[in-house]
Amino acid sequence: MTRHFDLLVIGGGSGGLAHAQRAAEYGARAAVIENGPLGGTCVNVGCVPKKVMWYAAHHHHQVEQAADFGFAVELQGHDWSALKTRRDAYIERLNGIYESNLGRRDVALLRGTASFVDDRTIAIDGETYTAERIVIATGGYPSVPSIPGAELGITSDGFFELAERPDRVAVVGSGYISVELAGVLNGLGAETQVLLRKDAILRDFDPMLGSEARAAMEAAGVVFATGFVPVSVTKSAAGLVVTAADGRTAGPVDTVLWAIGRSPNVDALNLAAAGVATDDNGFVPVDDFQATNVSHIFALGDVTGRAALTPVAIAAGRRLADRLYGGMAGRHLEYRCIPTVVFTHPPIGTVGLSEEEARAEYGEDVKVYQSRFNPMQYALSETKVPTTMKLVTAGDDARVVGCHIIGDGADEILQGFAVAIRMGATKKQFDDTVAIHPTSAEELVTMR
Ligand SMILES: Cc1cc2nc3c(=O)[nH]c(=O)nc-3n(C[C@H](O)[C@H](O)[C@H](O)COP(=O)(O)OP(=O)(O)OC[C@H]3O[C@@H](n4cnc5c(N)ncnc54)[C@H](O)[C@@H]3O)c2cc1C
Repeated sequence: MTRHFDLLVIGGGSGGLAHAQRAAEYGARAAVIENGPLGGTCVNVGCVPKKVMWYAAHHHHQVEQAADFGFAVELQGHDWSALKTRRDAYIERLNGIYESNLGRRDVALLRGTASFVDDRTIAIDGETYTAERIVIATGGYPSVPSIPGAELGITSDGFFELAERPDRVAVVGSGYISVELAGVLNGLGAETQVLLRKDAILRDFDPMLGSEARAAMEAAGVVFATGFVPVSVTKSAAGLVVTAADGRTAGPVDTVLWAIGRSPNVDALNLAAAGVATDDNGFVPVDDFQATNVSHIFALGDVTGRAALTPVAIAAGRRLADRLYGGMAGRHLEYRCIPTVVFTHPPIGTVGLSEEEARAEYGEDVKVYQSRFNPMQYALSETKVPTTMKLVTAGDDARVVGCHIIGDGADEILQGFAVAIRMGATKKQFDDTVAIHPTSAEELVTMR
């Protein structure tokens, strides 16, 4: 017998859960379909375990610095497998919380892999389900290059499965996942090299951030190779060796970690049966209201190929439910001015336009304020980790259109400034705000 719902959501990750739960709060009879652990990428193989690992590496740096403040501490190694056990237990607790959250809101959980039969019918393991509306929130998976030996490497998913710390690692890729995982591995004692196809990391951000992050990582011991286009991976008794198009080699290493981008999870969906269009890379394009080309089928989160971040998927999901079930006509997510953090050591916080983007949009009417300093945290230390902050302003009223920070605390500093910038704060309003002393953040309201 075919069961009928008001709403079927494919994918129990950040976006799917947020949408289904908000819709159910408005009274929709909703079901979530999930073929893996609840919580999706973020909870299981993304933000959450990554941030735990970041904290671990951060503690390493903090312990090293403690001697400068009079502590007699000595680092006596690190137990990666003990950390993994605690981390996995935490995630399991979260999986349980996500499941009970669904139950509390009367959202049905259908376990299995969904595929479209037609534009209103979904099949899961031979059972069929119909709905008035269907939402695709299937996320993505890490890409692996099509080169000989690629299967000898792991991806970010495999990184979270590592039972022990590899001693020597080559991380391939220049995006935030690559530099974050490289930072963790280095911080926890692995000999770490990063292989870049081009010559810079974090190329989607203001270039100041990439160059400062790279300098900080190099100072901490990470080695970078640029213009390195992998063409093969081979295995010998000594370890894995990555060979580049120009004949250079990297390795031998114990682990090659591919962090070269993510692909949309659409293969199992049989989108053609529902007539849902995809772009050349398989992502499901949507309009400003998360609608696909089929009027009652929507998509949100990473599968749409836009701003692949957990809070973006959640916000898109909740706003869609507000509009479809909560009577809030016109409600939708604005993709402009989304703040984000890169968990390097030190972390990066960035929101709004890069200097280059601002100049492209506002021409000569752009002014940039930049400050680089050693935070007080390092005043007593030989080794300093500088902080750099950049404000980009535009227009007659010098509105702040971009804020880019790399330095200790940037991850926590940014959120409040993101509110101000979203509200259209001007440089004068920043300057009129009384500073909090002594902090790093005060620099943002005292820059001249
Ligand atoms: C290493 C890493 C670190 C990250 N760190 C951060 C961070 O610090 N901050 C941040 O904001 N974002 C981070 N992200 C990105 C974030 O995890 C994603 O943007 C977010 O999870 C996207 O949510 P989603 O709902 O679109 O998809 P997902 O969370 O991926 O959920 C999709 C779900 O759909 C399920 N599914 C797929 N196909 C089917 C099917 N046919 N049938 C049934 N179920 C299906 C999958 O099993 C999955 O559970 C990180 C990602 C990675 C990989």
